[in-house]
Amino acid sequence: MKSHYRVVVIGGGVVGCSVLYHLAKLGWTDIALVERKTLTSGSSWHAAGIFHALNADPNIAALQAYTIKLFKEIQEESGQNVGLHMTGGINVASAPERWEWLQAAYRIFQTMGIDTARLVGRDEIKAMHPLMDVSDVLGGLYDVSEGHVDTYGTTYAYAGAARKRGATIIENNRVLELKQKTDGWEVVTEKGTIGCEHVVNCGGLWAKQVGLMAGLDLPVTPMEHHYLVTETIPEIAAMKEELPLIVDLEGFTYTRQEGKGLLVGLYERNFKHWRMEGAPWDFGIELNQEDIDRIAPELEIGFKRFPALQQVGIKKWVNGSFTFTPDGNPLVGPAPGVRNYWTACGVMAGFLQGGGVGLSLAEMMVHGEPSTDIYGMDIARYGGWAANREYLKQTTGQFYSRRFVMTYPNEQLWAGRPLRTAPAYEAMTQNGMRWGVLWGLEIPLYVAPSKDFEEKPTLKRSNAHDIVGAECRKTREAVGLLDTSAFSRYEVTGPRAQQWLDRIMASKIPGPGRCALAPMLSPSGKLRGDLSVFNWGDGSFWIMGSYYLRAWHMRWFQGHLEDGVRIRDISDDWVGFSLSGPRSRELLEAVVQNADVSNQGFRFLACRELDVGMSRAKVGRLSVNGELGYEINVPAAEHLTLYRTLKKAGSDFGMVEIGFNAMLSLRIEKSFGLWNREFTQVYTPGETGLDRWIAFDKKDFIGRDAALKEREKGAKRRLVTLDVAADDADPSSWEPVWHDGKMVGYITSGAYGHTIGKSIGMALIRPEDAAVGTELTTHVVGVERKAKVIAPSPYDPSGARMRI
Ligand SMILES: Cc1cc2nc3c(=O)[nH]c(=O)nc-3n(C[C@H](O)[C@H](O)[C@H](O)COP(=O)(O)OP(=O)(O)OC[C@H]3O[C@@H](n4cnc5c(N)ncnc54)[C@H](O)[C@@H]3O)c2cc1C
Repeated sequence: MKSHYRVVVIGGGVVGCSVLYHLAKLGWTDIALVERKTLTSGSSWHAAGIFHALNADPNIAALQAYTIKLFKEIQEESGQNVGLHMTGGINVASAPERWEWLQAAYRIFQTMGIDTARLVGRDEIKAMHPLMDVSDVLGGLYDVSEGHVDTYGTTYAYAGAARKRGATIIENNRVLELKQKTDGWEVVTEKGTIGCEHVVNCGGLWAKQVGLMAGLDLPVTPMEHHYLVTETIPEIAAMKEELPLIVDLEGFTYTRQEGKGLLVGLYERNFKHWRMEGAPWDFGIELNQEDIDRIAPELEIGFKRFPALQQVGIKKWVNGSFTFTPDGNPLVGPAPGVRNYWTACGVMAGFLQGGGVGLSLAEMMVHGEPSTDIYGMDIARYGGWAANREYLKQTTGQFYSRRFVMTYPNEQLWAGRPLRTAPAYEAMTQNGMRWGVLWGLEIPLYVAPSKDFEEKPTLKRSNAHDIVGAECRKTREAVGLLDTSAFSRYEVTGPRAQQWLDRIMASKIPGPGRCALAPMLSPSGKLRGDLSVFNWGDGSFWIMGSYYLRAWHMRWFQGHLEDGVRIRDISDDWVGFSLSGPRSRELLEAVVQNADVSNQGFRFLACRELDVGMSRAKVGRLSVNGELGYEINVPAAEHLTLYRTLKKAGSDFGMVEIGFNAMLSLRIEKSFGLWNREFTQVYTPGETGLDRWIAFDKKDFIGRDAALKEREKGAKRRLVTLDVAADDADPSSWEPVWHDGKMVGYITSGAYGHTIGKSIGMALIRPEDAAVGTELTTHVVGVERKAKVIAPSPYDPSGARMRI
């Protein structure tokens, strides 16, 4: 053990070893892994070792596919056998909606380049797995590259390959304390203190405590999980081929062959947390007592699916623990607010995700950014609120019990809600508003026609479709009122505020009293934000964006902060409403006391302070749906008053309350992109059209060289608008787009345009297929549909209505 390393990785489970391996592979070899006992002595030793690519987040599915490809590589590099059984695997569906979902998932696999999967029917499933009762099975998604590994062998293979590349592994040495220094960390261990630049928390079952050592309360908790292994099953003993892995999506179980018997794992609805504050330090190679009564309902379903289970004894019960986060995805990346402290923990499926997690974290550390869009597992997708014990208990429990249960895009789940509500929430609820949730905040979806109205979960157009349609039409005809509390707001002040904004944003910074769209780039020229900048004219600026990106954006802002600049996240202090539609000016005039808000007095993209009702509001003249519109921001304490003011005055102007569902439809009619759909951290300005707002004449801004290079060479893809010949469902995202049978891109988002009466998709495709009029196809919920490239902004292409 040396006294100093560049990186100390804490924890020698499969994830810590993968991080170590990937750091070494990317060229950082002055690195050490410190393990409390011996490698694998957390969750890793007793896992079932199953791997598969299917994941509700396609980016994570792609990283799982990467992990699968890695097994052979680390085996060869290390010389350690990983015990690879590439048996193939089938996700089976026995409910019509689930079968639809698998058909849609198959197409998304194609988009992600996962070409090892295909759809299979009931008879083929039976032929592949003769022990299975398939009487109610409708179909399945079969992937040849699924199977299982030896968990010990895999962990040691990552470790061995890392060692060969120069990494050090120090076992039987618990990390006791972390001390932050100006140039890094002091890692106090049982065997002495180690200095390092960076620490990585791969603490698995102890990640909570390893976080607290640096003052971080991470939203992660261990939970119990069972599997059983049977005695020999005679039919299996007689088989030549190994059985495929089965995930029974309605049955809460997964099954694989183990020796001559079966291994059956369960995600029971009656879930149980285990040691929410983290495992005890003296916890060894131990298991929990099995709790058969608790898991009996799911066990029963499993026994019906595989009747042979009833004929044989159970050789082994495993009730182990592993960690969960509120959405079940890992916590990866630099911890916001704690310099050089990185996390790769909360990894619920270390064997199928460990490779992708290790790669992504190493890329972030070595290159400054991941090569794929890993927002779905970035630690900064949560704020401190998510670590609240009750919130964590509810959300992790919900995730666990629904691990194999499909969540529909329009489905609202119960856990951890309502946590954050804007002050007008109750009044809006009284008026019939239905709510979704974003970053713990209740966000308005649409106004239901009656108390009893229930929206049915579906992959297709729901029974709320017409309600949303009416909100859209009334907005375009008169005025729509939208709660904008779910926008983020950051205040930038200080003598160098403008210079800093000029460097961090790629766009021109608006003059006093003006606002502007502001793309933000990384040094490699990828997008970091699709923000708006407001210059209030008094030396203060606001940046506005998406509420759920608050920790992600603040981490970036703070990482690039300079002397003479202060930035504050004021999203919980300032909230607001937007008015949009042709009559919104008349309405504003009716409630504004002290100013000329005519088109001359308050021009498009102007911003200023106005007395709106009793509130001294900060107002911008812009809208996200292509109409004449105003965003009215007020202190949170005045939100309800503003709501009442606008409601009262609005009745004279045909105003309707609208929700985000209407906004999503209205914006797509204008081809306005959204973050996490059209814009992500791996797309570029040229691809997405955000280059229109780049001020190439500015001498210095982050990402300038790369953006210039892209401008010279041309973008590799184009964002286009598609008119989709849809039927009862609209495109969503990630569906492949085809030209004469060749995949040329994929859908980034889609919705029904209620006021133009068309189903619209936005898609990133090859430039040669992007000409207006090109006839393409796509798959909507698994069904092939025609899709024609149309000119952007099918509604009001000239943008005249925003400027009236
Ligand atoms: C019953 C069961 C079945 C499972 N089946 C599967 C499966 O089929 N497929 C799959 O992909 N996943 C499966 N899992 C999940 C899998 O086990 C975990 O995702 C994985 O092991 C997590 O690995 P890790 O490295 O993050 O954590 P861990 O394995 O918990 O490793 C953390 C390590 O950190 C060390 N450590 C902690 N604190 C310190 C400290 N202060 N100083 C030094 N060292 C420290 C610990 O000793 C430990 O070795 C299963 C889990 C269970 C319980």
